[in-house]
Amino acid sequence: MDEDARRAVAVRLQHVRRRVTDAALAAGRDPGDVRLLLASKTMPADVIEAAVRADEDREAGLDRVLLGENRVQELVAKAPALVSLAPTWHVIGPLQSNKVNAALRWASCVESVASLELGQRMSERAGPAGLDVMVQVNVSGEPTKHGVTPDEARDLALGLAALPHLRLVGLMTIGANSPDERVVRRGYARLRELRDEIAAGVPGASALSMGMSRDLEPAIAEGATVVRVGSAVFGAR
Ligand SMILES: *Cc1c(COP(=O)(O)O)cnc(C)c1O
Repeated sequence: MDEDARRAVAVRLQHVRRRVTDAALAAGRDPGDVRLLLASKTMPADVIEAAVRADEDREAGLDRVLLGENRVQELVAKAPALVSLAPTWHVIGPLQSNKVNAALRWASCVESVASLELGQRMSERAGPAGLDVMVQVNVSGEPTKHGVTPDEARDLALGLAALPHLRLVGLMTIGANSPDERVVRRGYARLRELRDEIAAGVPGASALSMGMSRDLEPAIAEGATVVRVGSAVFGAR
């Protein structure tokens, strides 16, 4: 990776940090309450490292970035090269039950849980240290999207929260693929309402992971506590 490419990542990251801060302030929220997760799929370890290092210049009061991978194979391939940064990894894509052990070796949170069966498998393997999980909800109903329906979310969340070695920390969604911001925003509002219902029974389940490069503003307006950003930081995949 050359110096120009490194600088480009740093500039884009700073721009995303600004967008997050501006969106939080516009919504009357504390920018420190919105965590930035870098969705690093397809990006090589040196590019991810450049972003994490550039983020060391972030403003005081903001937490460091999280890293998210969709595929466990990719996580396992890159994570060893990045251990010196001590990043916090989240799994943000569908997880097959035969990849649970590999995922648990690196990830501290699996955001994409959509079945109790997977939860049970993770709970068995997580051991006493436990694992943070989120329920992925398909708020748009688009058939290509992973996740349970909004109607199924509550039962799955309560089921996961009852497992011995899992901590249900919140809900995750991928927003509607629509040019109409009202449609996108309505889906994010739905996730927030579901979170409010679930958190009434599971106090730790407060996280809302929603918003990506193209739509982090409406997500933050609706209460996102984690935004997952890839292309706006790393460039087009
Ligand atoms: C790729 C990805 C993102 C980031 O998408 P961008 O449009 O590149 O910001 C967020 N969440 C998930 C689950 C992803 O797969």
